[in-house]
Parts: sequence; C-alpha cells; structure tokens
Amino acid sequence: MATLDSLARGYLLVDIAQGMWLTLKAFFKPKVTLNYPFERQPLSPRFKGEHALRRYPNGEERCIACKLCEAICPALAITIEAEPREDGSRRTTRYDIDMVKCIYCGLCEEACPVDAIVEGPNLEFATETREELLYDKNKLLANGDRWEPLLAARLELDAPYR
Ligand code: SF4
Ligand code: SF4
Repeated sequence: MATLDSLARGYLLVDIAQGMWLTLKAFFKPKVTLNYPFERQPLSPRFKGEHALRRYPNGEERCIACKLCEAICPALAITIEAEPREDGSRRTTRYDIDMVKCIYCGLCEEACPVDAIVEGPNLEFATETREELLYDKNKLLANGDRWEPLLAARLELDAPYR
C-alpha cells in the first residue's frame, strides 16, 4: 500500500503542488532580507567596529599614553611608544593596532580613561592585503576625525550604562 500511495503522490505531483503552495504563501509575506549595501539594519551604539583615536574639539589628541589599553588587550594587538612633549604633557609617538590580531572585544575602549581609543560603527574596512590592516597612529587619528560626530553620539547613548 505504501508503494501505491507514493506512486499516486508522484503521479498527481502532490509534493510539487505542496512546495509551490509554500512558495506562494512566502511570496506575500514581508521580506526579512535586506538589499545591502543600499539597505542596512540599525546598529547598536555598543557595536564594536573599526577603531579610531579621538581628539578634543580644539584638535588636541585625547590619548595621554597611559598604556592601559595596551596592557588590557587580550590579543596583544596594541603597541604604544610614548615620550613627554616640551610642555611636559605625555603623548604617544607610536600607536599601532594589528587589526588582524584584534578580536573586537572592546576592552581597550573600556579601559581608556579619556575616551580616546574607541570602536566605531564602521564595519566596512575589508582589505586585499594583511598589511593594510596594520593600523598606525595616523590612520587611527584619521578614523577619529572622520567618524567623530557618530563616535560622540554613540558614547553619549552608552554613557548611562557604563
Ligand atoms: S578590541 Fe580587544 S582585542 Fe581589539 S585592540 Fe581592543 S582590547 Fe585588543
Ligand atoms: S588610548 Fe586611552 S588607554 Fe590607551 S594609552 Fe591612550 S589614554 Fe591610555
């Protein structure tokens, strides 16, 4: 009987009809896919994307070369060298992040006492070579300059939970 039943289903194309019915029902439902990059999902203020070094509104670097971010980084991705300026302030002479080593945990951002190193909303920084993902201070400061309005807004939204 089981053979006869399966023969009948095959002969009457029951499985195909059921599949087409399922397709037809899904056709009129709201779509869950997005037409990226023209459509995007909203990102949480806590999203951990590409790193940036921020400046104060007067253009001065926020980073005071305390090296807390370097010490806390579990991936040993951050390398900092520093020396005092003529005015006695302490600033980095080198600030590198190996973005290939980075695991985007956000601990560097949490450790920073002056909100200098942050992880911004940018997730589109794929490169063709590994070398391009070895970020230096200039690259990180340029990221900060580029994303500052979004970075500041993001930190303000997250402030009540820190
Ligand atoms: S996000 Fe985490 S792994 Fe990446 S540099 Fe910061 S502390 Fe290191
Ligand atoms: S980025 Fe922040 S935590 Fe890292 S050295 Fe500069 S001031 Fe210190």
